[in-house]
Amino acid sequence: MKYNDKRVNALLSCVAAKFGKKTPLKVTHYITDRCNLLCDYCYAKKFQKGPAELTTQQVKDSMKEFASLGCTTWTLIGGEPLIRSDIGELIDYGQSLGMTVNLFTNATFVPQKLDQVCKADNVFMSLDGNKEIHDSIRGKGSYDAVVKAIDLIGEKGKHVILNCVVSKESYPYIDKLSDFAKQKGCFINFNPTYNLGPGSDKFMLSLDEITQATETIKRLKKDNPHVISSIGTFERSVALTSGKVTKYQKHCLAGMLYLALSPSGEVGPCFVRLAENGWASGVKEGWYNAFTKIGDMSKCTCDVHCFYDLNELFGLNLKAITKAAFNLANDKGIYA
Ligand code: SF4
Ligand code: SF4
Repeated sequence: MKYNDKRVNALLSCVAAKFGKKTPLKVTHYITDRCNLLCDYCYAKKFQKGPAELTTQQVKDSMKEFASLGCTTWTLIGGEPLIRSDIGELIDYGQSLGMTVNLFTNATFVPQKLDQVCKADNVFMSLDGNKEIHDSIRGKGSYDAVVKAIDLIGEKGKHVILNCVVSKESYPYIDKLSDFAKQKGCFINFNPTYNLGPGSDKFMLSLDEITQATETIKRLKKDNPHVISSIGTFERSVALTSGKVTKYQKHCLAGMLYLALSPSGEVGPCFVRLAENGWASGVKEGWYNAFTKIGDMSKCTCDVHCFYDLNELFGLNLKAITKAAFNLANDKGIYA
């Protein structure tokens, strides 16, 4: 399948979703809950429902079935995916089915697994701030691991996409982090903090802080093409913090056009809900059956931003589509 075919098929699936037809366009696969780090706000442990992770063959089976149903993008995330020994093989397999395969990593195993990492279409890494902030959240040496991984991947001619959660600690460093991304030839995607329950309060920004961060990102997005953040997400976060809206999502399309897979193969709509019990197992019930058992999530709401742009774009919001087309044409990252 060519990239343009994928876009046309994705568009048709979005139209079909308006009439209630489900297509698993995007799969986010929490392939393991194991990780060598112990970050303050880690949520990975919430996803493991059974004692075992899917085997390589089971993952391939799920990829094959979802690809045949229209999946265009498979994202491997954890835990730390590189803890598994089969990531390169799975990336190859997913791509052979015509899918874009993305990889999230905390960077620490990149030197040993560089060839496998560079197979991914897009490599994502978290950067929580400057060295002091990043190491305080993720452990000593983890910032240097990110810098080293960026350099190694860069030497192979690939660009890393950095994800930075804008927290109380990191928001004064947005300018510096953007300069860092430019200097290293990376893209950087800033995201607002959201409430993941106990412990996350200390990261949340006040209304003044999130407003200031939003203005900074708006300015940077004009001046620095390496900043690919969504302004819409930040504006929604300002509205949420000021009490003008109470939830991020409206008419959520999770479970209709995208899904989340747990390490042991449960099929849920998104990472927020996957942490709950009761999702059907793709291993026991078949991948498509498990996907169809996700109920209608269109009335579901949450204060997590990750799906905001997807819901706008895949919900065929004209403003979102126009801005995405403009941004793509200008190499600015897809989101408005
Ligand atoms: S690197 Fe990711 S998976 Fe590992 S502990 Fe940190 S947040 Fe959790
Ligand atoms: S509204 Fe939020 S919690 Fe509900 S399905 Fe969508 S992303 Fe998941």
